[in-house]
Amino acid sequence: MTVRYQRQKGTADILPGEAEQWQYVESVARKIFAKYRYSEIRTPLFENYEVFSRSSGDTSDIVTKEMYDFQDKGGRHIALRPEGTAGVVRAYVENKLYGPEYADPYKVYYMGPMFRYERPQSGRMREFHQIGVEAFGVDTPMLDVETIAMAQELLSTLGLKHLKYVINTLGDAETRAAYHAALVNYLTPYKDELSEDSQVRLAKNPLRILDSKDEHDQAIVANAPSILDFLTPAAQKHFDEVKSQLTALGIAYEVDANMVRGLDYYNHTIFEIMSDSEAFGGKWTTILAGGRYNGLVKELGGPEMPGVGFGMGVERLLLIMNAEGIMPKTTMPLAAYVVGIGTEAHQAVLPLVQAVRKAGFAADCDFMDRKPKAQFKAANREHAVLVITIGEDELVQHAAQVKVMATGEQSQVSFDELTNHFADVYQRLTKGDN
Ligand code: ATP
Ligand code: MG
Repeated sequence: MTVRYQRQKGTADILPGEAEQWQYVESVARKIFAKYRYSEIRTPLFENYEVFSRSSGDTSDIVTKEMYDFQDKGGRHIALRPEGTAGVVRAYVENKLYGPEYADPYKVYYMGPMFRYERPQSGRMREFHQIGVEAFGVDTPMLDVETIAMAQELLSTLGLKHLKYVINTLGDAETRAAYHAALVNYLTPYKDELSEDSQVRLAKNPLRILDSKDEHDQAIVANAPSILDFLTPAAQKHFDEVKSQLTALGIAYEVDANMVRGLDYYNHTIFEIMSDSEAFGGKWTTILAGGRYNGLVKELGGPEMPGVGFGMGVERLLLIMNAEGIMPKTTMPLAAYVVGIGTEAHQAVLPLVQAVRKAGFAADCDFMDRKPKAQFKAANREHAVLVITIGEDELVQHAAQVKVMATGEQSQVSFDELTNHFADVYQRLTKGDN
C-alpha cells in the first residue's frame, strides 16, 4: 500500500470490537456526570487560533509546538482544538450562559477528539480523545472538591485501582507575583545550565520550568522555593479548605508544590490523577488533570467568572483498563438468528427477522442463500441466543422451530405467537438484561 492511503502518524482507527469499549467508558461517564448535574456541550473541532493561544498562553507547549493550525481559504488563522476548555469557555461567553436564568454553578461536560502535533508514542497521539468537565460561576473550594470527587467516582466505577491524587495550589494573582519574583531570583544563577526551553521560559514564564521534563532542569528545580510559602491568607484559606474537605470525603491526596499545569490561566487548586499501571511500565502517568481557572472567562471577553474543570485522556485510560483486565466484555448480543431452508422458506426469512427486530430484539439472517449448515455456523459465530428455523413444512404449518442454543431445547411456535413466545424465552434466558 502506498503511504498516501495509510493513516496519519499518531492517529488511530477505532474498529468494531474496540469501539464498544469506548461506548462503555462514555456511557459510564455520562451517567455519573448526570448525577452531579452536568449537561453535555458540543463545541466545534476547530476555532480561531487566538481562542487557544489566548487560553493556553503563548509560552505553553501546546501553543509553541503542538498546535495543528492553518490558514483557511478565506485567510483565517484556524486551529484544530488541542484541548476542550478553551472552546467551552468561548461558547460560554458567546452564548452568555452566565445570566440569572442559568444555574450556578453552570456545569457542562464534553467528550471528543483533540489534536496536538506531538511525537507519537504509546499514550501520546496526534489525534486523541478527552472526556472533560467545566463548572462556572462559583469560587468556593467546595466546588473544587466536588470536581475531584466526581473524577474519583468515575475512575473507581471504571475499576481503576492504585491511583495517586496529587494536588497543589497556584494561589491568586498576588501569590503568583510574589512567587514569580522569588523563583526568578533562585533560577537566574543557573540560567546557563537550564535547558534551552527553560532559558526561554525564565524570561517569559518561569513557573513552567517547574514542569520541565528535562532531568537537569528537574534537579535544579528540586531546591527551588515553594509556592506554598508565598500564599496570601485568602489563597491559604482556599487551599486549606480543599484539603480538609478532601479528607472529609475520604479522598487521600499528596501535595506536590512543584506541580504546575499546562495552561496559564490556572489559579488556586490544580490536581492530577496518576496511575502506575503496567500499561506504562509502572511509571507514574497522568490520566486526568484539571484545576481552577478564574481568569479565563474574562480573558476570552466575558465577565469576571470563575471556573473549574478537568480533562481525562481516553486512550491512556483504555490502555490501563485493558492492561489491568478490568474492561468488561463488550459484545453486541444477538437475540435471534433466523435460518431459512429451501428457496421458498428463504423468502419468508426477512419478514420474520423484521418482526423480531420490531419487537425490540437484535436479529440477523443469511443473505446469500447458503446451505442450512452454513447458516447454523453463522448463528454460532455470532453467539445467537435463539435460532429460529423455517423450512417447507413450517411454511405450510405457519410455524417455526425455535431452538435455545445454550441447551439445545427446541419447540414449534406458530408465526402469530412467535414474537411473544420469543420475548418470553429470551427474557427468561437473559434474565431480562436485554
Ligand atoms: P503531558 O504532560 O503528558 O504532555 P499534558 O499536560 O499535555 O500531559 P493535558 O493537556 O493536561 O496533558 O491533558 C489532559 C490529559 O489528556 C492528559 O493527562 C492525558 O491523559 C491526555 N493527553 C494529553 N496529550 C495527549 C496525547 N498527545 N495523546 C493522548 N493523550 C493525551
Ligand atoms: Mg503535553
